[in-house]
Amino acid sequence: MEYSSCIICGNGSPTPRFQKQSEDGEVFSLVKCGTCGLEFVNPRPPIGEIGKYYGRQYFTRRSDRGYDNYFSSELRSEIERVMGMNLADLDFFSYEKEISGERLALDIGCAAGYFVAFLCNRGWQAEGIDISHDCVNFAVNSLQVPVQQGNVIEAEFPRTFHLVTLWATIEHLHHPQDVLQKAWDILKPGGYLYISTCRTGPFSFQAIKGKNWRFYNFPQHLYFFNGRTLGKLLSRYGFEKQRFRTYGSGTGKQGTLMRKIADFAARYLYLGDMMLVSARKPVNGSQLPLKRRRKS
Ligand SMILES: [Zn+2]
Repeated sequence: MEYSSCIICGNGSPTPRFQKQSEDGEVFSLVKCGTCGLEFVNPRPPIGEIGKYYGRQYFTRRSDRGYDNYFSSELRSEIERVMGMNLADLDFFSYEKEISGERLALDIGCAAGYFVAFLCNRGWQAEGIDISHDCVNFAVNSLQVPVQQGNVIEAEFPRTFHLVTLWATIEHLHHPQDVLQKAWDILKPGGYLYISTCRTGPFSFQAIKGKNWRFYNFPQHLYFFNGRTLGKLLSRYGFEKQRFRTYGSGTGKQGTLMRKIADFAARYLYLGDMMLVSARKPVNGSQLPLKRRRKS
């Protein structure tokens, strides 16, 4: 196990919040930075050992922690429905029209490659990268989209992109700050970074659920941001925050009135326990921002 400091303000003495068991009965501790409010799992398994928590069963077992068969057509349709809603909220369809000529995109943590396939079907030259061998096999063999297995930090990309996406990925990363730096490096000036992640905060469904919150699944989820902490991290790396939306409540059963009301509140009253952020690399942003510095 390894200990880490707050990646936003460098605080090495975060406050313990609570402990919770993983699905295999291992106990992990959640801490909160008293300075900036970032929550994270501390200590955590080192990056070289995290793979054992992500077998194929993580993507196929019915569970509130993993996915109920990520490779099924039902889940694919549900993912595409949410994707369409998220893209509209992020004003993607206007941005897409602005790009003349070929449109290049990279989906980091692309899982089964559904978003890559979605973009390819719209005429984009899209590619993906994921750490999971099973997911990459599915994307390449079943969807026939260009997806590579590996760590995005180490991967080399011969071209720069109009769009880089991190859908429900940043919370899984050991070093989110390094991935944001990489995203900056591989984006074209004026290009967009889209992030979706679970959201903490007093005005969120997370606050109601507490320890039992649906996204407190350790150690697959390591970081828990709110709009402010994520915004701080993005601005350190030179990104300009453009859009912010929240959605999702995890409250009540799917299809019930309770769920509909809770999801409505999540989306329109900014109470969601998921958030969407779009951030732009400035048009004159080919140079590194002076304020960028690594704290970890
Ligand atoms: Zn902090």
